[in-house]
Amino acid sequence: MEYERERSLLIRSLANQGVSDKTLKAMKKVPRHLFVPSIHISRAYVDSPLPIGHAQTISAPHMVAMMCDLLELEEGQKILEIGSGSGYNAAVMAEIIGQKGQIYSIERLEKLAVFAHDNLQKTGYSNVKVTLADGSLGLPDHAPYDRICVTASAPDTPKPLIEQLKPGGIMVLPEGEGYQHLYIIRKSLDGEVTKQDWGGVIFVPLVGYHGFKQYDSKRGHR
Ligand code: SAM
Repeated sequence: MEYERERSLLIRSLANQGVSDKTLKAMKKVPRHLFVPSIHISRAYVDSPLPIGHAQTISAPHMVAMMCDLLELEEGQKILEIGSGSGYNAAVMAEIIGQKGQIYSIERLEKLAVFAHDNLQKTGYSNVKVTLADGSLGLPDHAPYDRICVTASAPDTPKPLIEQLKPGGIMVLPEGEGYQHLYIIRKSLDGEVTKQDWGGVIFVPLVGYHGFKQYDSKRGHR
């Protein structure tokens, strides 16, 4: 199969970094080269972020793996993803939750929403629905969610996302501008919310109502 060797080498390197077997198995199945612009296809299995146009990136494989592990994904879960980008992160999560699960992924840039949708269609991930909207407001129509994965860095935890997280649920999100931290947010069965700092990361900014206002111009992104 095309790029199989490159993908296996990447998986071996992620295994050495302590990624779980469940996530490794999923990443072994997802063809990342079909989620990157053709100009970057030769670098699809390098463990680094890559440009996907419109000043945005597909996250590095180790970061996708880490977020999947921190989310403690299980078969059949309902997941909200903020920031569809290329659709790759959603595809990896879809492999883990299986056909009985459902992912709602939100993207604010129209061209990237189409890019993610097309990539997910051509690779057969029919249980991911991409919606063009401001993900900082969540997606109340399908709430509550077992898991919420935010793939752009917010100024603070958006209140609607906390509200839309199911009791017993987990959310991971980066916060901060420039120097950012990844947080694991858990809502207990009686509704108590706790926030754990996982450490430093680098993501593009979350833009929108509960995002960074200074990046809220779509100039040059279309
Ligand atoms: N998960 C993506 C992937 O696998 O390719 C990578 C996402 S990229 C690091 C972050 C994405 O978040 C960008 O596509 C950006 O346009 C999007 N974004 C930023 N603010 C957003 C918002 N308020 N709602 C939805 N998407 C947003």
